[in-house]
Amino acid sequence: MASKTTSPGICYLVGAGPGDPGLLTIKGKECIEAADVLVYDYLCNPEHLRHAKPGTERIYVGKKAGDHTLKQEEINALIVKLTSEGKTVTRLKGGDPVLFGRGAEEAAELREAGVRFEIVPGITSAIAGPAYAGIPVTHRSHASMLTIFTGHEDPTKPDTSLDYAKLAQADGTKVFLMGVERIEEITGEFMKHGAKPETPMALVRWATHGCQQTLVGTLGDIAAKVKAAGFKAPAVAVIGDVVTERDQLNWFEGRPLFGKKIVVTRTRQQASTLSRQLIQLGADVIEMPTIRIEPAKDQYAFGELVNDCHTYDWIIFTSPNGVDAFFTMFDKLYNDTRSIGGARIACIGPGTADKVKARHLAVDLMPDKGNFVAEGLVKAFDKYQNMENVKVLWVRAEETREVIANSLTGMGAIVDEAIGYRTVAETEDNLEALARLKNEGADMITFTSASTVEHFLDLHVDLPENCKIASIGPVTSAAIKHYGLKVDVEAKENSIPGLVAAVEKFWR
Ligand code: SAH
Repeated sequence: MASKTTSPGICYLVGAGPGDPGLLTIKGKECIEAADVLVYDYLCNPEHLRHAKPGTERIYVGKKAGDHTLKQEEINALIVKLTSEGKTVTRLKGGDPVLFGRGAEEAAELREAGVRFEIVPGITSAIAGPAYAGIPVTHRSHASMLTIFTGHEDPTKPDTSLDYAKLAQADGTKVFLMGVERIEEITGEFMKHGAKPETPMALVRWATHGCQQTLVGTLGDIAAKVKAAGFKAPAVAVIGDVVTERDQLNWFEGRPLFGKKIVVTRTRQQASTLSRQLIQLGADVIEMPTIRIEPAKDQYAFGELVNDCHTYDWIIFTSPNGVDAFFTMFDKLYNDTRSIGGARIACIGPGTADKVKARHLAVDLMPDKGNFVAEGLVKAFDKYQNMENVKVLWVRAEETREVIANSLTGMGAIVDEAIGYRTVAETEDNLEALARLKNEGADMITFTSASTVEHFLDLHVDLPENCKIASIGPVTSAAIKHYGLKVDVEAKENSIPGLVAAVEKFWR
């Protein structure tokens, strides 16, 4: 195929998997990272786009059935054009690109145009969808064969390419995609050609996503159940005895937070640790960054204090962002960590301490467990030593409570305040999340600082009815109450794992 190649561009036809962000292959991720342009579909989870380097062009071409969308010929022309211009084009398709994904047609067009392409297989919804509903497509006691077909064609039309007589008689499991709209005709054809109405059957909607739904029935009654439940596409349908395995193997929907929609309001960079832990417990997470961290306005003043850090007895960090800001500046000024000198390090809690430890620096002082707030740290100092004339550098945000400075000064310490960063409202990165919150509602919203509360309220969105509020600790709770809202959950240990544990306990 290389003989016809003329341009240095390349088009990767990549399977993006069925939705769970973890179900993207390593090669698929590498193709996203390498892309100059991403061309993606409705069924490709937009989460994957985050792997792209900054400035990557993103082109959305696929919309759900019935909506306006780029025609296949237009998509073909687009990827040929972009690749011919010498670009690295990553064409992302839901599931696997060559299973009902028209990947073969796109490959043929690229080949015809003489541009390079590669096919990067993906995890198909046809197999992963049932698996996430606890249904293995083959099983030693039930089925040694699998048939996958499209439910897109009207089986009652004479020009259908599917032979339902053969399908109905075939052994093993049958899976079909794109079939919700025609469920009645399809199951009808199966039964007409001799399949037993009591054959177990299931539909898995938005499989592997946090909002996955499964409908179980039989060939005979599933169409009525679909109607009654208002069950909609996209769904994978599976027919056969393997469906009965779900009774024991339904792992995904059995996780503690499954079915709960939870809003995470931290900065985009920080949200991921909280989101990941909630997702692992089964929650459907809406990441809505309400704040963004920016460098402090007076970088010169901050730089001077960081420059002198080795002259202090203590450096105090009261947030992970403070640690980041400090070492970003420190690394500009010094190229040797030892320049921090003999200063001891105090941290407000485990999240902040982890950041310090990641620099291979030990943390000398932290509040007692369960008291990871400024007051707790002051108490810890009081227990630790006489603070008379002790020199302290406190690395802080522009807007924060003055507890540390006031209390330590009161105890005789000399406190310098290094303002490293400021928290500003996030106004651009949360439009998609806002739309989801409006359309889908939420069961719970989490706040991890007073500023996430304030900036969320600045967005002027109504919290859905019955939406519970979870807070990381007393200071955040006070901010929530200050605005007339009720705190339903407060973390015992004021840390992200503490918050996750409290949320899990609440819904148990
Ligand atoms: N290439 C894709 C299939 C594309 S056809 C793959 O390998 O998965 C589109 C159909 O795939 C949808 O109508 C639906 O039937 C199915 N589908 C894709 N992703 C799905 C998901 N996450 N949950 C349920 N069905 C899905």
